[in-house]
Amino acid sequence: MKCKTHSKIDATGGCINCGNFFCDKCLHKIKGKNYCNECTEELATKAEDKNNESKNETKVIVQQQQQQQQGEGGGLLSGIKFSAGCCIGLIIVVVIIAIFILMASGGYR
Ligand SMILES: [Zn+2]
Ligand SMILES: [Zn+2]
Repeated sequence: MKCKTHSKIDATGGCINCGNFFCDKCLHKIKGKNYCNECTEELATKAEDKNNESKNETKVIVQQQQQQQQGEGGGLLSGIKFSAGCCIGLIIVVVIIAIFILMASGGYR
């Protein structure tokens, strides 16, 4: 039996994932088991995917916690912000009206 990637080199073992035979150069020992180059990469990407998934899960949980915290004290805060916005809006409208009246009365003189 020859190595699958090196047709001139004798295979020294088989990949336990895909079942193909490879030489020493192509085989990687992971946790005492032989894997070929391809399957090693596959395992690596799978491991990365798992890491990413768990990271995303923790992100979602953190976001949910933040939303809950905002929900508890946020009602008051957003209420204050809302009324403050209203006050500023009213003040701006009053100032504009005052300026308009001043200009209009100035024009009539
Ligand atoms: Zn393999
Ligand atoms: Zn090889």
